[in-house]
Amino acid sequence: MRRVLILGGTAEARALAAELTVRGLHVVSSLAGRVTNPRLPVGEVREGGFGGPEGLARYLADERIDALVDATHPFAARMTASAASAARATGVPLLVLRRPGWREGQDDRWLRVPSLEEAAARLPRPSRVFLTTGRRSLPLFTGLDGVWLLARSVDPPEPPVPDNAYVLLDRGPYTVAGERALIREHRLDVLVTKDSGGAMTTAKLVAARELGLPVIMVDRPPTPPGVRLVDSVADAAAWAQG
Ligand code: NAP
Repeated sequence: MRRVLILGGTAEARALAAELTVRGLHVVSSLAGRVTNPRLPVGEVREGGFGGPEGLARYLADERIDALVDATHPFAARMTASAASAARATGVPLLVLRRPGWREGQDDRWLRVPSLEEAAARLPRPSRVFLTTGRRSLPLFTGLDGVWLLARSVDPPEPPVPDNAYVLLDRGPYTVAGERALIREHRLDVLVTKDSGGAMTTAKLVAARELGLPVIMVDRPPTPPGVRLVDSVADAAAWAQG
């Protein structure tokens, strides 16, 4: 039976695991093991890092993996680099599955920036910020004069929570009405987000557009050169089936 390893942690990875299982392939999904209570895909699941590219290469050989799909989050750049390197070393074919990024519409007010650091540097002062870039990015946005943060994340950030931040623990999907209410309740005046793409978290962008809020949009890191890339689960399933 053809054995496929999916590097996961996304809705697309779960959808792909389900689709390949239906098609009769043996699927192993890999999760980083950082989130408490992750949404689990169907089929076999392993958790935790591999120990860099060498560890992943060993795993691919030991588990006789025929095909590797990197369906991690578009900002999981280390895992993606590690997958490219392990695939090169072992000759196991690799496909990267990335959902498309978001596109700015006519009524949007977006500023695209290349990094989280740049997003922090470009914040208007004073401002009340809707920060949705993940708990590990919080330190970059703290201690900035005139900046107050509503930081939303799935799991709590490392303590201590800075004085200028209120942490809201929540996990999508979100609604436009809910996002609008949140923006109004906390009198937020700028949204900071990574260009994650996908439908689960677009409500905040729609609410920002409706309320005329500017958005600081952090661009995705580039994918490694020469790696095959698709943006749909259907295309990834067809490729993985061989
Ligand atoms: P990262 O910085 O690229 O990865 C750091 C290390 O974590 C990797 O070198 C690897 O350790 C381990 N790792 C990451 N993804 C893994 C996976 N699917 N299976 C096994 N080990 C994994 O990644 P990250 O940004 O911390 O993201 C971690 C996970 O959360 C990913 O699976 C990603 O899909 C998911 N996620 C990330 C974001 C985000 O904004 N970054 C958002 C939603 C979900 P070793 O080097 O030891 O192999």
